[in-house]
Order: sequence, then structure tokens, then C-alpha cells
Amino acid sequence: MAANLLAGKEVAEKIKQTVKEDLALLKARGMTPKLVALQVGENPSSQVYLNAQKKNCTALGIEHQVNTLQSDISEHHLIKQLIQLNEDKTVTGIIIQMPLPEGFDTRKIQSLINPVKDVEGMNPANMGWIVYGRARLAPCTALAVKTLIEYTGVELYGKEVVMVGHSEIVGKPVGLFLVDKFATISICHIGTSKAGHLEEHVRRAEILVVAVGKANLIPGSWIKEGAIVIDVGINRVGDRIVGDVEFDAAKERAAWITPVPGGVGPVTTAMLLKNVVEAAKMQADN
Ligand code: NAD
Repeated sequence: MAANLLAGKEVAEKIKQTVKEDLALLKARGMTPKLVALQVGENPSSQVYLNAQKKNCTALGIEHQVNTLQSDISEHHLIKQLIQLNEDKTVTGIIIQMPLPEGFDTRKIQSLINPVKDVEGMNPANMGWIVYGRARLAPCTALAVKTLIEYTGVELYGKEVVMVGHSEIVGKPVGLFLVDKFATISICHIGTSKAGHLEEHVRRAEILVVAVGKANLIPGSWIKEGAIVIDVGINRVGDRIVGDVEFDAAKERAAWITPVPGGVGPVTTAMLLKNVVEAAKMQADN
């Protein structure tokens, strides 16, 4: 059986359509969302990401600004800038561009973003809303994974889901989203691999999500027949970008599989735009 391809671009276009509609409603109320990315120093890979972010925002009519602070500023100075953005009513979304310089307390800084402007869903208050089952602004990649799974039309109730990777931006929130749909979730990680248990978990998965960052970590032969496979990983192998799952072999066994590139990535990008609009809506309603 050859899997259906879960084409991220198609799903992303649908999300962008709803974003456009919401933006039109906001603009009719005299509000234009403005996203500010705050970065300390510059680095080439962040620049590529920020340029793409700007292009995506301006294409939809969202204002976008990058505030770059000198690489030798203190944490205190960054926090002062962040607080100004929190208080600036014209700014509706804030991103703290990672990585921050060594010695900066990333968690503390993320916890200081105004939760209604926290479009990456990194503030503990927004994480807490996910635990409550009432997500407001949640991490974009986790939202992308959830959306792609729902797009297949699968009934999640009672399904065996295996999530490989337990990061704050993917594994943990995905686990919480799906357990609230009454799926049974196993969250695997480096400890699972080291204990030699990864294969047995993956072989059981009716829905498999992998977010590790190791090319071909999951051999195609481990995929359960008819599974849904969401590959979040991005790995450069020579001049190719590949995921964490051995795609060619996995697609012969899965019912649905995301390609890399072109699967989770475009949906994550669309989810950021959706979060920017959701944040602006929350502020407009206050
Ligand atoms: P992370 O580095 O924060 O966490 C990696 C996880 O993998 C941890 O849970 C770790 O325990 C686990 N792990 C490491 N080695 C393992 C092994 N051998 N077996 C099992 N588990 C193992 O990761 P992250 O920030 O969630 O990113 C994961 C991958 O997803 C990366 O490749 C990243 O580039 C990619 N990513 C893609 C998107 C997208 O939009 N497509 C967004 C975010 C991250």
C-alpha cells in the first residue's frame, strides 16, 4: 500500500484563508496586527527565518518589524525592551528570536512576554492553558501536528499514539492535545532509545509523530500497516533535507505520511500567522 501524502502546503493554504478572513474583520474594526521579533545580535540562519517571516506577514497585511539589539547587551537591557513591547498598544505579537546569548535565562525571558502577545506560545501561562484543555496561544509546530492529524479525518478516541521527542515546542504539547481527545499517548525520547524500547513502541503506533532531528532514526520497517506518520524532523544530508523517518520505505506501509520538506513546515508557518491574528483578536476584544 502506498500512503496518501499529507501535503502541508494544501493545509497551510486553508489556514491562511481563515487568517485572511479574520484579518479583514480586524481591519474593519480599525486594527492592524503588528508582530515584532526581538533578537540579540544577528546570525545568518535567523536572518533567513526572519526574512521569510516578514514576507509571509506583509503578504497578508500584517505589520512586521525586527528589533535587533547589540550582541553585548545585558539581560536586564533585553528585559527592558521586552517590557516596552509588552506595553506598546500598537504591538500585538512578540517573538523572542532564539538562540539568546550564553548566560541569558531564556525561560525567565519567555515568562515575561505578555501572554496575549506571546504568538509562539512559550509563556508558562499559555502552556498552562494547554494543560487545562483550553489552549489559547500554543506552540506553532504542535498546533501544526494536531491540525495535520485532524486533516486525515481519523477518529482519535482510543487510538495508540506514539510521540517520539519530548520538547516544549512539539512533544509535550502534542501529547496534551491528543490525550484530551482520549487517544492513548506514549511519549518516547532519548531514554526510550537508550533502554532499547523505541522499536517496540513505534511498531505499535497507529499514529506516529517524530520530532527528534536525526535522519532515518525510524526505519520504514517499524511502521505499522495503515499508520498515520507525521515527521517533524528537519535534517540536512548532503544537499538534501530529510526528516527523521525513512520516507521511501515508510510510505509503503503507512496510510498517511508527511513529506519532508513540504509537510509540517508550511503548516507551522501558517500557524504562526494564525496565532498572530488570534493574539490581535484577544487584544481587540479587551
Ligand atoms: P529538541 O532538540 O528540543 O528535542 C529532541 C528530542 O528528541 C528530545 O526529546 C530527545 O530526548 C529526543 N531524542 C534525541 N535523540 C533521540 C533518540 N536517539 N531516540 C529517541 N529520541 C531521541 O527538538 P525539537 O526542538 O522538538 O526539534 C526536533 C526536530 O524537529 C528538529 O529536527 C527540528 O529541526 C525539527 N523542527 C521542525 C519544525 C517544523 O516546522 N517542521 C519545527 C520545530 C522543530
